[in-house]
Amino acid sequence: MLSPFCEVHIYEKGKTAGRKFLVAGNGGFNITNSATGNDLLNKFSPNGFLRYAISSFDSDATRNWLLQMGIPTYVGSSGRVFPEIGIKPIEVLQKIKEKLIQQNVRFHYEQEFVSFNSENNPVFKNNEIEIAMKADFYIFVLGGASWSVTGSNDLWRNEFDKIGVKTIPFQSSNCGINVEWTEDFKSKYAGTPLKNISISINDFTIKGEALITHYGLEGNAVYPIIAEVRKMISKNVEPIIHIDFKPTNSIVQLKNKIAGETIPTKNYKTVFNLNEVQLALIKQFTSKEIFIQPESFISSIKNLSIPVSSLRPIEESISTVGGIALEELNENFSLKKFPNIIVIGEMLDWDAPTGGYLLQGCFSTAYYAATSILNSLKNGE
Ligand SMILES: Cc1cc2nc3c(=O)[nH]c(=O)nc-3n(C[C@H](O)[C@H](O)[C@H](O)COP(=O)(O)OP(=O)(O)OC[C@H]3O[C@@H](n4cnc5c(N)ncnc54)[C@H](O)[C@@H]3O)c2cc1C
Repeated sequence: MLSPFCEVHIYEKGKTAGRKFLVAGNGGFNITNSATGNDLLNKFSPNGFLRYAISSFDSDATRNWLLQMGIPTYVGSSGRVFPEIGIKPIEVLQKIKEKLIQQNVRFHYEQEFVSFNSENNPVFKNNEIEIAMKADFYIFVLGGASWSVTGSNDLWRNEFDKIGVKTIPFQSSNCGINVEWTEDFKSKYAGTPLKNISISINDFTIKGEALITHYGLEGNAVYPIIAEVRKMISKNVEPIIHIDFKPTNSIVQLKNKIAGETIPTKNYKTVFNLNEVQLALIKQFTSKEIFIQPESFISSIKNLSIPVSSLRPIEESISTVGGIALEELNENFSLKKFPNIIVIGEMLDWDAPTGGYLLQGCFSTAYYAATSILNSLKNGE
């Protein structure tokens, strides 16, 4: 969106740009979310950090911007916004690149940022030759640390640390959790979804779906609890999640189904309308004494406690937290120590759940930073 009077060059270390965007495209492609105002803002943490960026370029702005490029969008389940059916991720990426090229933005591939020189200008390496760049402003968008095949890794952190800009080690966010299943459970049920459940941890509850995998659980009811799990692991407290298999039934409603009678466990499936995997999961994390008593079994249906052993590795996470420490930033994402260096996107230490918020956060930070550069150029700063 920078105007033609700026000469803009994009340096990318890969042979092509936007590989994680394409991976996101293949995995569901929530390009933003229909939430607006505070509903949108509250999805990002730390609380309020992106308030100016989001209010300057929100989800409606993203949809309008895409529409202007010939990419209509629609709102799907849970407010997720997708490009209209039939539009492939590569077409969206191509349109964005075409728009940039029309605006005289130039792409330079196989140019890896490797360090800052003694004047704090970025140095890029191509074919073993290192050259320092000189520009009025540098915008860094180096990404988080997951899915290294797309080009993102955390090697750049060291270079920022060297110039005195604090960075925070990356950790997994929006990832699966490891749970110690028995071999038998794993072999029978890996790949089976748990639908219409809610998962709680501490005071936080989320409804949705989880997929049983060979290592544990993942899915849209798992990603939002990751921040709490991470917090507990960092305090050396074992995280315990609680699954409610019947979030629309109260305990009283479930008790009414048995009307105080002692029913055999073989009838649980029919009486409580549970499927085989739900029953097997409850059995795995409930003692025999509790399991055979229908009244206490109901407490397991409503509140099954499952210990989490760890988070899935960074490499396979949808997103990461960590990167540039937020206290290093001015409000427009420029560095306090080097105001002509701007850092945006996932390389900053913010977090958001899946559902289109991650890309929206990247678009909003990019727009806000670019606008602030334009304003400072107009004002002759
Ligand atoms: C499987 C998966 C599914 C996802 N699905 C969604 C989704 O549906 N909706 C959503 O909102 N988000 C989704 N995301 C998250 C989203 O894709 C990312 O948050 C977003 O791409 C981050 O954008 P970015 O520009 O900050 O970083 P990136 O997209 O990672 O881009 C960083 C770029 O910097 C380049 N680079 C890195 N280091 C250097 C260097 N030293 N020199 C030069 N270039 C360098 C990389 O090659 C890369 O091209 C998904 C992510 C994954 C992995």
